[in-house]
Amino acid sequence: MTFQTYLSPPYLSGNEGRYLDEALASGWLVPMGPTVDRFEREFAAVIGAEHAVATASGTAALHLAMIAAGVGPGDEVIVPTLTFIATANPAVYLAARPVFLDCDAQSWNLDVGVLEDFLKSRAAVRRVPKALALVHLYGQTADLDSIVALCARYGVVLLEDAAEALGSTYRGRSPGLDGLAGVFSFNGNKIISTAGGGMLVTRSASVAALVRKLATQAREPALHYEHHVVGFNYRLSNLCAAVGSAQLETLAQRVQVRRQLFSRYAAALGNRPGVKFQEEMTWGTHTRWLTTLTIEPKRANVNRDDVIASLAKVGIESRPLWKPLHLQPVFRGAEYFGGGNAESLFRDGICLPSGPQVTDEVFEHVAAAFGQKV
Ligand SMILES: *Cc1c(COP(=O)(O)O)cnc(C)c1O
Repeated sequence: MTFQTYLSPPYLSGNEGRYLDEALASGWLVPMGPTVDRFEREFAAVIGAEHAVATASGTAALHLAMIAAGVGPGDEVIVPTLTFIATANPAVYLAARPVFLDCDAQSWNLDVGVLEDFLKSRAAVRRVPKALALVHLYGQTADLDSIVALCARYGVVLLEDAAEALGSTYRGRSPGLDGLAGVFSFNGNKIISTAGGGMLVTRSASVAALVRKLATQAREPALHYEHHVVGFNYRLSNLCAAVGSAQLETLAQRVQVRRQLFSRYAAALGNRPGVKFQEEMTWGTHTRWLTTLTIEPKRANVNRDDVIASLAKVGIESRPLWKPLHLQPVFRGAEYFGGGNAESLFRDGICLPSGPQVTDEVFEHVAAAFGQKV
């Protein structure tokens, strides 16, 4: 389906062309080089990470993070069920098993109570999962302090999938820094885009070195091609990194634009019965990468699918929330723990177009789809 207004399209910051020209002129038409080095340094500085390794995608970064965590055949990896499939897939690449846990109804992120009960029950039978791939959903951080403490108590390696949460905060710090590794995505729909790309951040110099090596076919330092383990071709191209540097320069404005748009949506629709926006938790800044809400059809007099259909008619893209992974046919048979929070969010939830493509006219169409005049 094609739309005139997409949910979260990429847009330029201003310096992309200049930095691309410089990268082209340098002759580094390769998946590494000085522009990648610079993007990694800038990214690490912006979020306060010690080490940053640029990758071909967020999924590639997650795959490498799971290898660094020691995930292997038969291991269990905890994944919050309400997320994009890329959080869970790398566990499957490694012949490990994702186990899905519910989210809490307030933050929409991993339910800390469910996590604690699950770890307790696994510890009782001495089957503690290897790792937790924690997600910070739609631009809101999960309750990191509680989750870090539980992972430490039970010996679970914490990895953070912050693909949707660049620019957000948890008690003043960026997500991605608390676990063994954190992962970001620069896919076209994310808050900054490199036309495809990702970043792995870590406090550990040895994890950074391992990931860097595995991402370049696990080449040993030798004149000839020497390999002791199997690696991947997962590095970011030097040209894409030039785009990333330019995009990163306007991260703060990008967050501001999305937060302002959220406030506008909330002012226009927030008082309608049966309409409930994803709450911003007190522990940090929600970037509102996507404005997301639930529509209780009986009270709102309109249902989610009707809103999506009437927006599609005028060329505007909106979508349901992520389909919980434990309901995905590909994960039939996987274990699930928790209640029905993710399922009801999937039933009633919607993502509204978010970003500067939402002009006054688009905004009016969205309000009208709810039966609201602005
Ligand atoms: C986008 C996204 C990813 C994957 O990133 P890619 O760069 O597209 O591979 C992983 N996890 C979540 C939650 C995402 O939204």
